[in-house]
Amino acid sequence: MGAADCTGFTTRQVHAGEGSGGATPRATPIYLTAGFSFGEYGDAAAHFGNGEGYAYTRIGNPTVETVERTIADLEGGSQALLLASGQAATAVALMSIVSAGQHIVSSNHIYEGTRGLLVDSLSRFDISTDFVDDLNDPAAWERLIRPETRALFAESISNGPNRILDIEAIAEVAHRHGIPLVIDNTLATPYLLRPLEHGADVVVHSASKFLAGHGAVLGGVIIDNGRFDAASTGVLFPQLTEVPRGCTQSFAGRAAGDARIAYARESVAPRFGPTPSPLNAFLIGQGIETLSLRVERQTANARALAEALAAHPQVAQVDHPDLPGHPEHALVERYLPAGPGAVFTITLRGGDEAAERFVEALEVFTHMTHIGDVRSLVLHPGSTSHTLLDAEQKAAVGVYPGTLRLSIGIEDAADLIADVTAALEVLEAVAPADVPAAVSA
Ligand SMILES: *Cc1c(COP(=O)(O)O)cnc(C)c1O
Repeated sequence: MGAADCTGFTTRQVHAGEGSGGATPRATPIYLTAGFSFGEYGDAAAHFGNGEGYAYTRIGNPTVETVERTIADLEGGSQALLLASGQAATAVALMSIVSAGQHIVSSNHIYEGTRGLLVDSLSRFDISTDFVDDLNDPAAWERLIRPETRALFAESISNGPNRILDIEAIAEVAHRHGIPLVIDNTLATPYLLRPLEHGADVVVHSASKFLAGHGAVLGGVIIDNGRFDAASTGVLFPQLTEVPRGCTQSFAGRAAGDARIAYARESVAPRFGPTPSPLNAFLIGQGIETLSLRVERQTANARALAEALAAHPQVAQVDHPDLPGHPEHALVERYLPAGPGAVFTITLRGGDEAAERFVEALEVFTHMTHIGDVRSLVLHPGSTSHTLLDAEQKAAVGVYPGTLRLSIGIEDAADLIADVTAALEVLEAVAPADVPAAVSA
């Protein structure tokens, strides 16, 4: 048995991407090159004709492909496509599926950069989006689907205030209409949850977060289940079933179930151009080799910290799905048996002013806009990531004046607990001010 045949997640995160090729370097070499020379004169035409071999890094690169193979394997997908950032992954995934004049239904509980893409950017290309607030009510999704709807979009665990999606229920709604469910799985990582196993069709990630883990580079990835069915849903996606300019076969004719990702790889990504650097791909690959070890530690740290914070009088609410009272507590057992990850929010009784004092008093936590790093990070969403929303819109996604988003790292739990406890002591002087009714314990 080769190492690549092993079934353990941690074995696969180290070995699954191992390549073929003549040489056998132990680590993945960095093919830091814009392009590749053609051998025989005819190799150039063969590449442009049927995609044989390597020509130019925007079309394909062996370092990038190694990382793609690893991620496809870990997510249980057919193929993966690595891109320059998480935003690029979401944009390319949706632009491969949805055309001008068409429509997306999205969960309201999403990363604010994705909301901007949908509301401000794709709208300019006549792609509109409606948002579902009650994310686990299939009827709420169903009501917003129109004849021109081409994708449902949600996060498996939403960024910041944690909401957990009932993926199976929403996938069923999508499939009843012949359209794909696209899931942003950034916060869960494939170690904790694999949406394709629960009926999702396409997964996207910001690889800048847990997959890389070191916070040194940006990256994004699309993983497809390889089950595009031209016979039953092809009429909705002519870009996949009609023969492209100058070709003899459609994407579905040539790539069958992989038509969607083949189209993203060969048409959308190389033309819009968010190509990852092979060096960044290498660094993401290095990160993935320790994914399970980091996420296991970070999840345990987050749980310990959430419990300590929930017991503190200055804390009005801890939004951690392992704690009783979380709206999707029951879904954790079903979808996240190894734990709900390492990003959660707390809401301080003292509002804005307490949030500022707390952040300034922290010493181990870094104040920055990022998650999934080996270091623990803190951010005040109300004045940063969610600043474009009004107070009512913020409250709808669980962001109050005293809300802080924590991303827990791999440090020693005792040091993290001591850091937040000391920072909370600084707040004792602050009067319990404007606590919204919704979060007063
Ligand atoms: C960060 C993030 C993104 C965007 O990824 P970038 O790599 O920063 O472009 C998308 N979705 C989620 C859930 C994220 O946390």
